[in-house]
Amino acid sequence: MAQRILVTGGAGYVGSHACKALARAGFEPVVFDNLATGWAGAVKWGPLVRGDLMDRAAIDAALAEHRPVAVMHFAALSLVGDSMKDPGLYWRVNIGGALNLLEACAAAGVGNFVFSSTCATYGDQDGILLTEDTPQRPINAYGGSKLAIEQMLRDFGASSGISHVIFRYFNVAGADPDGEIGEQHVPETHLIPLMLDAVAGKRPALTVFGTDYPTADGTCVRDYVHVADLADAHVLGLQRLLAGKGDAVFCLGTGTGFSVREVIEASRMVTNREVPLVIGDRRPGDAAALVSSSTRAIRDLGWEPTRSNMRQMIGDAWAWAQRPGFTQ
Ligand code: UDP
Repeated sequence: MAQRILVTGGAGYVGSHACKALARAGFEPVVFDNLATGWAGAVKWGPLVRGDLMDRAAIDAALAEHRPVAVMHFAALSLVGDSMKDPGLYWRVNIGGALNLLEACAAAGVGNFVFSSTCATYGDQDGILLTEDTPQRPINAYGGSKLAIEQMLRDFGASSGISHVIFRYFNVAGADPDGEIGEQHVPETHLIPLMLDAVAGKRPALTVFGTDYPTADGTCVRDYVHVADLADAHVLGLQRLLAGKGDAVFCLGTGTGFSVREVIEASRMVTNREVPLVIGDRRPGDAAALVSSSTRAIRDLGWEPTRSNMRQMIGDAWAWAQRPGFTQ
């Protein structure tokens, strides 16, 4: 029988792609999701347990019923801008959910935990290439809450023997190259889907958040990684844990930054259409540049981020945008 993995947030963008990669690698993903931002239609590779991480009894019941060998924890509030407006909500939901989940894992004897953390834990670092060892200084509540969970994992490791792999993602982009799943947020806040909506005429224009950053063209620089590559890294991290290799932290980026203007230019090349633009103010909480070294993940996990080039990411997102999308 396939080993089961409890995937919190498995109905969401990154979580659903991880489920597909898990199934392909021979695991059975059991999705635990409250469907607040995820989609039942994105759960295709195993059962869906509709539940909330603030409900400890629901987590206990899912662990007792499905007996997973590991947990992958994606479920979280994840918008930088919102976290600046309502930090209390971010601290309560992200920390409370992770704490319930970890305590439930400790009680049920689930000893392997894969955690989706973020480059937002680094804050603004003068455009240096960020590594796993760069000091973390978050500048928004989203990054702050994720950093606190990283610490929580270290504490639980010491007390209850839960081993962890932490992935700090940079900017996730693209869609399943087979077109089965993709990015669908309501409301949408992310650069690439908003840009493609503007290209398709579904929105009047893309607003560029700030052109006065200390970067080459004045717009923010980010390191974009294909969601399917990211999903592959999670399977490799899980296999590392199951092989008993112990705790680890990996940055998942590509080592190359793209400014907002460069992303827009790449979109023009892929879609052959102009992006209607409005220049706006900076978005509070945004760092000027966040670019990662992926050396450790490539070296220690054997990760091969083969799809993480801007043309493929925009191309797959563009193909997904032509499809009907998920229903609940
Ligand atoms: N961005 C933008 N206009 C938008 C949305 C995003 O200029 O409508 C910029 C944003 O300031 C950031 C980059 O695009 O520098 C990526 O933002 P996104 O929200 O996609 O991801 P985040 O970096 O917040 O995880």
